Amino acid sequence: MKAHDGMYIGGAWRPARGQDTIAVVNPADEQVIAQVPAGTAEDVDDAVCAAREAFRGWAATPPAERAARIAALRDVLVARADEIAETVTAELGAPLQLSQTVHTGVPVLVAGSYAELAASYSFEEKLGNSTVLLEPVGVVGAITPWNYPLHQIVAKVAPALAAGCTVVLKPAEDTPLTAQLFAEAVDEAGLPAGVFNLVTGLGTVAGQALAAHDDVDLVSFTGSTAVGRQIGATAGGAVKRVALELGGKSANVILPSADLAKAVKLGIANVMSNSGQTCSAWTRMLVHKDQYDEAVALAKAAVAKYVPGERVGPLVSAKQQQRVRGYIEKGVAEGARMVAGGPEAPRETGYYVSPTVFADVTPEMTIAQEEIFGPVVSLLRYEDEDDALRIANGTVYGLAGAVWAGDEAEAVTFARRMDTGQVDINGGRFNPLAPFGGYKQSGVGRELGPHGLSEYLQTKSLQF
Ligand code: NAD
Repeated sequence: MKAHDGMYIGGAWRPARGQDTIAVVNPADEQVIAQVPAGTAEDVDDAVCAAREAFRGWAATPPAERAARIAALRDVLVARADEIAETVTAELGAPLQLSQTVHTGVPVLVAGSYAELAASYSFEEKLGNSTVLLEPVGVVGAITPWNYPLHQIVAKVAPALAAGCTVVLKPAEDTPLTAQLFAEAVDEAGLPAGVFNLVTGLGTVAGQALAAHDDVDLVSFTGSTAVGRQIGATAGGAVKRVALELGGKSANVILPSADLAKAVKLGIANVMSNSGQTCSAWTRMLVHKDQYDEAVALAKAAVAKYVPGERVGPLVSAKQQQRVRGYIEKGVAEGARMVAGGPEAPRETGYYVSPTVFADVTPEMTIAQEEIFGPVVSLLRYEDEDDALRIANGTVYGLAGAVWAGDEAEAVTFARRMDTGQVDINGGRFNPLAPFGGYKQSGVGRELGPHGLSEYLQTKSLQF
């Protein structure tokens, strides 16, 4: 696609207020592929004004009509699927097949789910002598990361629109082209002017201006815990609603009765997908001491299939590549046993990192505590179920996880004791309606399905 040199505000592409630009780099070959405008606080202000102006009209639009517009948006995403996949591959580096199936397919599913929910959701309820109205919160400031460029946008914009909110989006600086493509899709779908607005730019400039804007009613942020903490503090100070989807360090708990080979194979696949740049990735594999050596051998064999440049893409940027290689070095320095991969770059060009497996990882090691956000798996040994639970719950995060056992009931009993927002039982499938979000420092609020929609609603009760 051709990059826009302006912002999408009030239903049109307008020149940016400033002159600065951001270079977009293809992480597979390190070439600059486009420039997009670096938005300023003035651009953010223009966009928030447009969203405010459009708010009353969109909030008063019947839900069935809002649903029809979201369905039209979904249809445009389907019609432009090839272009979306190519754009994600160009700016994120994901292998094209992953871009087609996950990066394009999942947002289409999620947009479709909100088209249906907008039409069927009950925006009114009776409680005794009261009628409770579920009304849109207002103008939403959405700030998204680069790891699933389109999914992160759709997971905020679709429920906000379904609820009757209007939106200003500030996408990640590494992946702005997918966001511009989404704005084109919104335009093509015929959403009223100002209902969705896009300002590209730096987090510390445009992102901060959006999060701090007085006329934004709700800030929905996905990204690092460090930035989330700041945004939460700003929102708290202004007494405005905030939703935070932050980091994770999820445990993949393999109980002794599980199908070990399957659990290890799918556990490795889960982390290697998207080059490990998935906040909910099961980066800590917990194995019973009696099965540990077998699991290490299985993990080593499984990871060999993930060849950089073939099944595994590069990381998004040189900065992320450096960061992940630094964690691998730290794992070695702290005494973990590297059984595959390593800190050396596997290819001369591109921000690739070798798929890496560490054994003999203990719970207090840095690689078992901090989010690495790369293709790195740690295998930890546990003594018994209580020990496994202590290790699984022993980080500041609580975003996701997995449990494998011979029968589902056993896995569910363990999953109930985990301090985390999502658990996949014996490799359970992705469900676009299931609430997604964190316990503990993984965040505040939920995305997807009806729980995700309710984040964008506030209640008014009428007494009779
Ligand atoms: P990041 O926090 O640096 O950036 C995320 C977004 O915030 C970007 O759009 C960025 O421009 C913006 N931003 C940066 N500083 C800002 C500021 N001071 N004020 C306002 N906005 C600002 O994170 P990242 O490096 O883009 O993404 C990687 C991190 O995001 C990882 O830690 C990962 O776990 C997390 N993440 C979480 C989820 C989730 O759903 N829980 C999903 C994806 C990524």
